[in-house]
Amino acid sequence: ALSSAQAYDFFYFVLQWPGSYCDTKQSCCYPTSGKPAADFGIHGLWPNNNDGSYPSNCDPSSGFDKSKVRGLLSSLQSNWPTLACPSNDGTNFWAHEWEKHGTCAESVFNEYSYFKTALDLKSSLNLLQSLQSAGIQPDGGYYGLKSIKDAIEQGTGYTPYIECNVDGSGNSQLYQVYLCVDSSGSQLIECPIFPRGKCNSQIEFPMF
Ligand code: 5GP
Ligand code: 5GP
Ligand code: 5GP
Repeated sequence: ALSSAQAYDFFYFVLQWPGSYCDTKQSCCYPTSGKPAADFGIHGLWPNNNDGSYPSNCDPSSGFDKSKVRGLLSSLQSNWPTLACPSNDGTNFWAHEWEKHGTCAESVFNEYSYFKTALDLKSSLNLLQSLQSAGIQPDGGYYGLKSIKDAIEQGTGYTPYIECNVDGSGNSQLYQVYLCVDSSGSQLIECPIFPRGKCNSQIEFPMF
């Protein structure tokens, strides 16, 4: 049950490039289901406010219940894989995302619809296809930040935010893509506000 209605204005839909999660000093672990596909994976669907603040962990009484997403498990394993160590089947990551972020949107989602909505969004986006159509491949090469953003805007119709991290040698690389979704979780919108963070103007797109 929701003790106090938490307001938020929109969602960030955040996808991660597994090659960039792994290509760091810290490295990564594949999930017990095996090496994920060389595709963007979901990180989360995060309620956010127009001023940049965001609610978190809104309903401690609504802990992640794996039985509620039984019908989505194979799709979660394929599209929302965990790369954190130690290896696990993904339950830790999904539980974290539901409890930290999903419980702040219980006015529009239950646990099942939270995950289903994110999976449907991902399959409608074809993010990697948008990049590849513009000649941007996960080949370890360097691409202009602007050309990456333009390709995603061309493919999805919306301006993304790109988050970079650094590889083991300190090179800036394409780590996460943020798009925005309206507060009912039903459609993409232009982001009311972008996160802050630094990318170089040319960034690496590592292989996975
Ligand atoms: P980091 O510090 O690695 O950027 O983010 C750590 C965690 O804080 C993220 O996984 C996410 O849960 C949360 N977070 C960071 N930035 C934002 C933001 O702009 N909006 C929301 N809703 N959550 C964020
Ligand atoms: P956030 O708080 O940023 O939404 O989520 C980050 C948390 O999820 C961290 O505690 C991290 O260890 C865990 N996590 C598990 N698997 C992954 C993964 O594949 N990618 C990221 N970014 N975090 C993961
Ligand atoms: P502009 O608004 O002129 O496109 O960009 C202003 C500054 O923000 C520049 O330093 C540019 O590199 C940075 N920037 C623009 N878009 C992004 C983005 O998606 N991610 C990150 N990290 N920086 C960006």
